[in-house]
Amino acid sequence: MSATWVEPSGTATALLLLGRGSDADSERGVDCPGELPAPSDPDLVARARAAKATLGDRVFVLGHHYQRDEVIQFADVTGDSFKLAQRAAARPDAEWIVFCGVHFMAESADILTADHQQVVLPDLAAGCSMADMAALPQVETAWQQLTEAGVAGQTVPVTYMNSSADIKGFVGRNGGVVCTSSNARRALDWAYERGEKVLFLPDQHLGRNTAVLELGFTLDECVLWDPHKPQGGLTEAQLRQARIILWRGHCSVHGRFTLDSVQEVRDRVPGVNVLVHPECRHEVVTAADEVGSTEKIIKVLSEAPAGSAWAVGTELNLVRRLAHQHPDKQVMFLDKTVCYCSTMNRIDLPHLVWALEELVAGRVPNRITVEADTARYARSALDQMLALP
Ligand code: SF4
Repeated sequence: MSATWVEPSGTATALLLLGRGSDADSERGVDCPGELPAPSDPDLVARARAAKATLGDRVFVLGHHYQRDEVIQFADVTGDSFKLAQRAAARPDAEWIVFCGVHFMAESADILTADHQQVVLPDLAAGCSMADMAALPQVETAWQQLTEAGVAGQTVPVTYMNSSADIKGFVGRNGGVVCTSSNARRALDWAYERGEKVLFLPDQHLGRNTAVLELGFTLDECVLWDPHKPQGGLTEAQLRQARIILWRGHCSVHGRFTLDSVQEVRDRVPGVNVLVHPECRHEVVTAADEVGSTEKIIKVLSEAPAGSAWAVGTELNLVRRLAHQHPDKQVMFLDKTVCYCSTMNRIDLPHLVWALEELVAGRVPNRITVEADTARYARSALDQMLALP
């Protein structure tokens, strides 16, 4: 671990969600049929190893970068959500894909893997607050209202990978594309070759940051659709003038970083480089030295010179792991308080052990499936992303 690593202090809410310092029995998310091991069980690591060994190549464990270390140690591959789904699809011999991540990621894995492969999410309470901010009925209502306002015909829907299968299906049905934080610029270029406007779902910040910083749009050309207001809270004139209609969604983790966090670290650590994820607010991204996807953050830090100082604005498990991997650099968390993805953290070692042991016992727990019609359209939007130049 970097000698200068400082553990952020906890907030009451974060600690409650994570169960640290509280009753672990009350922090189990949804019920798991059968016996969930106690977090204090000293044999958890041995049990996970034994179950994995018994299952052999029939199981493939995927670990998202934001997962806890206690889970990551059992991942056959780590990565962002899209890379993990692709890797699962490239392992057709694996009957069971245990996805240590959140619900939309497991859905994408189910869409991209073969029919005989079954995707398991160790805790069904591992959702994503951003994905939940765009529900299919809301998006269908918005599209209907855009149609009535006479703008849907010129609008191409683009959804971030961090959305439900329903939303990816909607986008596929309406001639759009999925994007990741690495290829959002290319997805928008593709969309503007086909229409004058984009409806960007569900992360307003990734959409705004890409449109303004990479495509050169003005902030006035970006309007915000609030699904809780009539016609998104926008007038027809605003809709006609907009180049990009941003859905009012955000990541509750990356949305926590503020301009104050950036200024505070610059005052405290002279010469520090601020490196943030594009899901952060526009003013934070604008004030940072570098912006990039999770994979880019990992690459930038691995290539940074020894002795350099980095304040990183992304999920805490990843930042702490990077500090550990780069003891020759000063890696710190951008915020002073804890900033985990609480739903991602639902997947802990007891849940992983439980899921693996259920598979050993011949039962497939918490299987995630996507309905065939939705999967077909979502797949077309994902394939369109893969075909981006
Ligand atoms: S970090 Fe944000 S976008 Fe990622 S799963 Fe957690 S809430 Fe969703």
